[in-house]
Amino acid sequence: MGRIHGERIGRSTGCRYCGRKRGMVRRYGLRLCRQCFRDFAPELGFKKYK
Ligand SMILES: [Zn+2]
Repeated sequence: MGRIHGERIGRSTGCRYCGRKRGMVRRYGLRLCRQCFRDFAPELGFKKYK
């Protein structure tokens, strides 16, 4: 994991939908928190994430 420079990443941190920074799921290149990921995973073609 590289360093996180707030300026460089800027708003890209946080969930795309709710803006939370906790429980981020950054695998798959999605920027969703776990809650949103669970909601959207099925729509995005992922299996249910239990
Ligand atoms: Zn979210």
